[in-house]
Amino acid sequence: MARIAFIGLGNMGGGMAANLAQAGHDVRAFDLSEDALLRAEARGAARAASAAEAVQNAEAVVTMLPAGKHVRDVYESSVIGTASAGAILIDCSTIDVATAREEIEKARASGYAMVDAPVSGGIAAAEAGSLTFMVGGTAEAFERARPFLEIMGKAVIHAGAPGAGQAAKICNNMLLGASMVATCETFVMARKLGLDLQTFFDISSKASGQCWSMTTYCPVPGVGPETPADRDYEGGFAAALMLKDLRLAMEAAQSVDAYTPMGGAAETLYARFAEALGGGGKDFSGIIRMIDDSWVAPETP
Ligand code: NAD
Repeated sequence: MARIAFIGLGNMGGGMAANLAQAGHDVRAFDLSEDALLRAEARGAARAASAAEAVQNAEAVVTMLPAGKHVRDVYESSVIGTASAGAILIDCSTIDVATAREEIEKARASGYAMVDAPVSGGIAAAEAGSLTFMVGGTAEAFERARPFLEIMGKAVIHAGAPGAGQAAKICNNMLLGASMVATCETFVMARKLGLDLQTFFDISSKASGQCWSMTTYCPVPGVGPETPADRDYEGGFAAALMLKDLRLAMEAAQSVDAYTPMGGAAETLYARFAEALGGGGKDFSGIIRMIDDSWVAPETP
């Protein structure tokens, strides 16, 4: 069994670290939050006093942090040059492609193998060990990361060179954001045209309009399979995180001069829902309530 440093034990990292510990690995955990550390300890990890302490003698280092700046801070202050030379470094956070490439290059220059390995799947998939990992890095680094990722996920896919995991993630989520908005406006229009929405679902899910946002994650309560719509849009994938990913997608699109009008429209709409109208904590399918005009923005204290 391996010694694994796990840094960032929040909503996602908490479940992921617990799955590694449950598989018998020696998990050394660090987070800035005392609560997160207490929860990790209760689920089989050993607490480290700092990120630098966690990575000492670790064979693998896994990070699950909020954004690129946290990843840069942690890798440059506590991982590169501190972890053993043989350690495989695995960043599972969703961050910008440029920072991912930079950190992997800095790690490589110091003799480490590192991959970017962002995930698809939310908190429930992190708990269940059923995430999908999209991995960027050399074939050798991918093979070294794979056994650890397989414990935390149901699918581990080599996306390509360093940064390709992040690129695949934001391309996927740009498509998801745009298709969710399209699904929401379609159901609102169908209702206004007098269609029964379950009947429309039955037709469209077998016709050329079908997509994951409708068939698996229908934003209308009581229509299709059970989804966050049936729980007042609680749980699931927060609109604030969809907005984060759409912003990363737009930044990446600009960097390569890609024309993404639908992604841009989705970003504008999610910014309005998640920020201006206070819907950031709701599941991202809750944007239907902005589109049908039934959303009541929470009162600010
Ligand atoms: P979170 O905010 O719940 O957890 C992040 C953790 O990192 C926090 O506990 C925080 O204290 C810790 N942290 C921040 N800076 C640190 C530092 N310097 N050293 C140690 N710990 C530090 O976030 P999350 O929901 O777990 O998401 C983590 C990543 O996964 C993000 O990049 C997010 O975009 C991505 N993601 C989230 C979901 C989801 O559904 N929540 C789904 C897919 C991907």
